[in-house]
Amino acid sequence: MMNILNDILQAAIDGLSTDDMGCDWICDNCNAYMNNQSGFSTLNGIWTCSECGTCNDVSSDNIRNYGTQIITDNQKRYIQKIEELLGITFYGDTFEEASDFIDSNKDRYQSKLHTPHKYR
Ligand SMILES: [Zn+2]
Repeated sequence: MMNILNDILQAAIDGLSTDDMGCDWICDNCNAYMNNQSGFSTLNGIWTCSECGTCNDVSSDNIRNYGTQIITDNQKRYIQKIEELLGITFYGDTFEEASDFIDSNKDRYQSKLHTPHKYR
């Protein structure tokens, strides 16, 4: 039990002291893991690899954003139409979830949209 607590504490301390924006940073040139290089920080947006001396971009521009993009207005409009016509509800709040929802329902939506009202 104590070991687990120590691990959690150590991980928290590591997380605070490395200032890595929650990402793993690998040297573009030599593939060294840079997070644990002495004094590593993303604060300056660049980090010189201590293994090979290559200057790496460690700014937020270099981080992939997974699921953090929000739904666009176009998607919202389309989703609203799908919900109304198909009588289903979209539960989600990211761009990816919206894309998936539209992708998986647009065929049904289109075919129903192009079916005369009396045959729906
Ligand atoms: Zn390197």
